[in-house]
Amino acid sequence: MLSVDEAFDCLCEHARSLPVKKMPLEGACGLKLTQAAYSLIESPSFDKSMVDGYALRVSDTSPTLQMLEQVTAGQVPHHAVVPGTTIRVMTGAPVPDGADAVVKWEDTTQLDEETIYSPLVADTGESKGGLNQQGGSLGGGLIKSGYCILPRGTIFQAGQQLLAAGTRLGPVDLGLLAEIGQFQVSVVPRPRVAVMATGNELVDGEGPLASGQIRNSNGPMLLAALRQEGLETVDLGIGRDNVQDLRTRIELGLDADVLLISGGVSAGVLDLVPGVLEALGVRQVFHKVQMKPGKPLWFGVRESGARRTLVFGLPGNPVSTLVAFHLFVKPAIEALSGEPFAPQSPVACQLTAPMAHRGNRPSYQPCKIDAVGSSRVELPSVAPLVWRGSADLATLASANGLAMLPPGDYQLDAGSQLEVLVLDERQMKF
Ligand code: AMP
Ligand code: MG
Repeated sequence: MLSVDEAFDCLCEHARSLPVKKMPLEGACGLKLTQAAYSLIESPSFDKSMVDGYALRVSDTSPTLQMLEQVTAGQVPHHAVVPGTTIRVMTGAPVPDGADAVVKWEDTTQLDEETIYSPLVADTGESKGGLNQQGGSLGGGLIKSGYCILPRGTIFQAGQQLLAAGTRLGPVDLGLLAEIGQFQVSVVPRPRVAVMATGNELVDGEGPLASGQIRNSNGPMLLAALRQEGLETVDLGIGRDNVQDLRTRIELGLDADVLLISGGVSAGVLDLVPGVLEALGVRQVFHKVQMKPGKPLWFGVRESGARRTLVFGLPGNPVSTLVAFHLFVKPAIEALSGEPFAPQSPVACQLTAPMAHRGNRPSYQPCKIDAVGSSRVELPSVAPLVWRGSADLATLASANGLAMLPPGDYQLDAGSQLEVLVLDERQMKF
C-alpha cells in the first residue's frame, strides 16, 4: 500500500496542466494567462481633465475669462483656449488645445452665462498647494502648468507589458485587459469535473427513508466544493451497484477532465467501480493509501485521443470522501489549472486539550482551529472534536481543519504542537 507521500508522487506525474485555450475575457477570471499582455494603446490616450472645472492657460493674466463651450467626457472640444478664454470641462473630458491647467469648478465664480472669474488661488491657496513656480496670475493667485490634467500616456505606453505570462487573472486584471481592448486571452482552462455517487442504499431528495436507505450526501458535498472553486461540474447522479448502470454513467463522466466517483471502491461484494473503470480503459495508478480515513482511495487515468481524464474513486463514507478530496483531488485540480502540483501545506497549531492516537496509519481528524486572539508570535490554537468516525459528517460540519496525526499509539498533551490542514481558508482569520 502506498504512503500518502508516494501517492502524491504518483499523482504529480499525471496531474499536468490542461492544454492552453483561447477564450473570451468574461470567462477568464481565476485562470492562468499563458501569454504576456501588451498594450497597443497608451493610457490615457489624450490629455484628460481629472476634475469638473475650467480649462485655461496658467500664464493668462486676464481679470475674467470668457467661456467658449462645454465639453463632457466622450466629447471633443471644438475650440482652442486662447488668453482671456476658458472651456468648461467635465471629469474625463479631453483638455482643449491651448489650455495647460484645469481649475476646479468650486474654485471659480461664474459671473454670468459666459464669464468666469477664478479667485481660487488668492482666496484658498489650498487647492494648488503652493505648487506654482512658473504659473501666471488668475484672479491674483498662482497654479502650475499641468494642474488637474492627466497627461496622455502617463499611466502606460503603447507597447508596454501590462501583465506577465503566468498571471492568475483576477477582476482587476480583467478590467485592465478590457481597458486595452483585449477581449480574447490565452489561458489554461479550469478542468470540467464530473461527480457520481454510487450505492444501492442511496436516495436523493426529501422522501422518507426505507429501512437500510441513507441519503446521498457525497454528491451535493463534492459538487458544492467544486463549484465553490468556480469549476464547471457534471452531475452524474447516483450510480447503482450493478455493472451496467455504473458503466453507462462512467462513460459519460469520462468526457470530463476529472471524474470523481464516491463509494464502491472498497473490498465489498458490490464494490464494482475499479472493475468497471478498468473495463472502460481507465488505467489504475494506485489503489489504497496508508491513511485514515480514506484508505480505499483509487486513482487512475484514461487517455483517449487528446482527452485525458483523471479518475478518483473516493471511499464512500462522507468524511473519507472529503479527506481524500481535500488531500488529493484539490491539488490535482490546481495542477490541471496550470499550477505546479503541491499538496496543501499544514499550519502549526497548539492543542487546547489532550488528543489520543492509535494505529499504524497517519490520521486526519476533524478539528477546530481557533485563530481569534492569536498574535503573530503565538501559534493558533486547535481544539480536538469528538469524532465518531468516517460517517460523522455532523462533526465535520463544525470543523475547519484536519489535524494530522502521525502513525503510532500515543497521547498528545494539551499545549503540544501539531500540524493541521486548514479546510476552508475563507473562514480563517490569522
Ligand atoms: P462504500 O465505499 O460504497 O462501501 O460505502 C462506504 C459507506 O459510505 C457506506 O456506509 C455507504 O452507505 C456510505 N456512503 C456511500 N456513498 C455515500 C454517499 N454518497 N453519501 C453518504 N454516504 C455514502
Ligand atoms: Mg457502496
